[in-house]
Amino acid sequence: MRMDEQRESDQVEDRRGQGGFGGGGGGGGGLGGRRGVGLGTVALAVVAGWVFGINPMTIISVLGGMDSGGGPAVVQQQPAPGNRPAPQQDESTRFISKVLASTEDAWDGVFRQANAQYQKPKLVLYRGATRTACGTGEAAMGPFYCPGDSKVYLDLDFFDTMRRQLGAPGDFAQAYVVAHEVGHHVQHLMGITDKIDAMRERVSEAQANALSVRLELQADCFAGVWAHNAEQAKGFLENGDLEEAMNAASQIGDDTLQRNAGARVRPESFTHGTSQQRMGWFKRGFQSGQIAQCDTFQARNL
Ligand SMILES: [Zn+2]
Repeated sequence: MRMDEQRESDQVEDRRGQGGFGGGGGGGGGLGGRRGVGLGTVALAVVAGWVFGINPMTIISVLGGMDSGGGPAVVQQQPAPGNRPAPQQDESTRFISKVLASTEDAWDGVFRQANAQYQKPKLVLYRGATRTACGTGEAAMGPFYCPGDSKVYLDLDFFDTMRRQLGAPGDFAQAYVVAHEVGHHVQHLMGITDKIDAMRERVSEAQANALSVRLELQADCFAGVWAHNAEQAKGFLENGDLEEAMNAASQIGDDTLQRNAGARVRPESFTHGTSQQRMGWFKRGFQSGQIAQCDTFQARNL
């Protein structure tokens, strides 16, 4: 990706200097405690959840959610080596910040076309574990989005995991992951997350998983919509970029994750979709650039 000329987002919240628990321990300077996920936010989420019958605790992750029976066991949590970001992480931080900015621009345009106003999510950088309005977020879950505080949570070590353990290297693979989480934010803004949460509470586990798959594939499609619109505006794609994203989508398909973990492939346990499905929906979003093409809930065949 050619990102040198791109602006950085001002929505990045860096908690990496706040100790291993992201300030959650109480003495850490308070970003997590006061502004981000303070009592007010939590209380509000609980009230809203009660009124609308949704589960405010839902964490939606790129790999497996907190509510999906623990998710795949392939990603091992790495110990936080220290509080200071490593130099290569500073470069990584700038890159992520630019990707986030490009999602802001792209979604701002898409929402404006629909006569709506896009509200930007925050992106929290943390190490190991951090407090969120959805409970404690852990790096082992992979990057995730919490609708309760409208924040994307990312431990940059995940990109090492992607490269080394998941076989998904490349800058555009990283961008796809960020765009997928932002896709969950878009779903939240559109009221889709709440609706699906409410439905998932009323059905069997297998049916709940099937709904989760459709939600996740839509986030993949939205990532594609971002890529289409950002590419049209900025032209940042280079040879091989698209393949990196498609490969990443493939490597984090439920069937591939289960197979690589040495487990039996159990479709009824899928929460994110197969490799083919994840690639297919990202591509559909990328080719069309239209969210109308991302209605995974009406699709007969995923
Ligand atoms: Zn997801």
